[in-house]
Amino acid sequence: MRGYGKIAEIDLSGDRIEAREPDERLIQDFIGGRGWAAYAIFKNLDGILHGTHPSNVLVIATGPLAATGFLGGCKTSFAAISPQTGIYGDSSVGGYFGYMMRKAGFDMLVIRGAASQPSYLLIDDGSVEIVSDPGLWGLSSREADERLRSRYGDCSIASIGVAGEKLVNFASINVDWGMRERRHSQAGRTGMGAVMGSKRLKAIVARGSGEVDVADPERLREVNRRLIAEVKGSPNYENWMKYGTNMTVEWANSVEALPTLNFQKTSFEYADEISGKAVHRSQIRVSACANCVIPCGHVLKADDDAVTVDYENIGMLGSNLGLKKLSEVARANYLCDYYGLDTISTGAVIGFVMECFQRGLLTEDDVGFRVEWGDAEKVYRLIEMIARRKGFGTLMALGVKAVADYVRGGSEKFAMHVKRLEISAYDHRAAPAMALSYATCDIGAHHNRSWAITYDVQAGRTSYGRDKAEK
Ligand code: SF4
Repeated sequence: MRGYGKIAEIDLSGDRIEAREPDERLIQDFIGGRGWAAYAIFKNLDGILHGTHPSNVLVIATGPLAATGFLGGCKTSFAAISPQTGIYGDSSVGGYFGYMMRKAGFDMLVIRGAASQPSYLLIDDGSVEIVSDPGLWGLSSREADERLRSRYGDCSIASIGVAGEKLVNFASINVDWGMRERRHSQAGRTGMGAVMGSKRLKAIVARGSGEVDVADPERLREVNRRLIAEVKGSPNYENWMKYGTNMTVEWANSVEALPTLNFQKTSFEYADEISGKAVHRSQIRVSACANCVIPCGHVLKADDDAVTVDYENIGMLGSNLGLKKLSEVARANYLCDYYGLDTISTGAVIGFVMECFQRGLLTEDDVGFRVEWGDAEKVYRLIEMIARRKGFGTLMALGVKAVADYVRGGSEKFAMHVKRLEISAYDHRAAPAMALSYATCDIGAHHNRSWAITYDVQAGRTSYGRDKAEK
């Protein structure tokens, strides 16, 4: 069918690659992206033993609008059985990966087995190659990206850090580190970085120069023009341009939905210091995904580099841990990206440990040092311990549910997760529909399946009308 690229089946154990056209039924029934990925995993489900076993199947799929110039048609799903939850997991990422994959002629990669040596995949204008490169192992995501980019030039790179190599349950995948104008993004949730690590797959490089065959280009352009006009005409457009998702800090704080001190409180005294306005004052540039008119990647200085901050990162690594300074949140966020850790789960598990200290359920003897709210240096130290699976970090690398199982003493009551996936940065006590969203989300507690909270707050927590269900 026109407009679709190929599917590459890649067996890392057998060093075999096969490319085929997608069948009609897959296209008609599941369109692309996450639909294709979930179906591919479902078909292979019986043979999968564990999230980090070579039998797991990692699927990377983008949609039919990617690389067509259509607004928002840049997303790519990384999906597999999650090492963290033991059920279907996926994480969606923006940037340029899907764009380059499609321009290289592929809509979906289905990756099985595990390479005998650390390797990367090269998707290059119609061809797929498994390249053995043990020298990449042990590098941070940033260093791996730099090394591969110097080899391949204008490409998109998905890479894991040390946390993925060490099979941390919530290891992330970085896409396009260090591309100034391109948004640096992460497939953060459900441990897809650990799945890559278990396959000894350090990175995937996508480079393409082809064009996507669109059946009616003029009609697509026309619909795109209308959509862009609608977005630009929105009363919120200016604020989105200026503050991106970070303006949610102010909103969540004002409606009592900002996770604070491991969700013990719902607003943060220092919210102004880490707000969208504070980010705007300090940002060094903005960046965007492919074909987007809302460059929402707000970039701050961090260490000798830069970090793109979003609301979820600020909520979970900032107010949730009691960090009062934007520079501290930026550094914690940078370290998560550097090692390849999901910022939401990392913020949740560190917040949980802090609350255990507050309640006397954990002591210096357990962790090796005291951990208190707002202590940025300890946050940085714990991030490294989790990523490298050192000391108490070995347990924290399993996620908040596992730490609660170890601590006991009633701590499961403040272990913030659903189906073992840590809750995103919305305190939902002000918003019961959001609680329902978390409870019913297929991958565990995540906000992007049903983001009910704004209408929920507006309608009020005691409202149970049809309007709420329809929204
Ligand atoms: S730049 Fe922001 S708004 Fe645009 S596609 Fe990427 S994440 Fe979405």
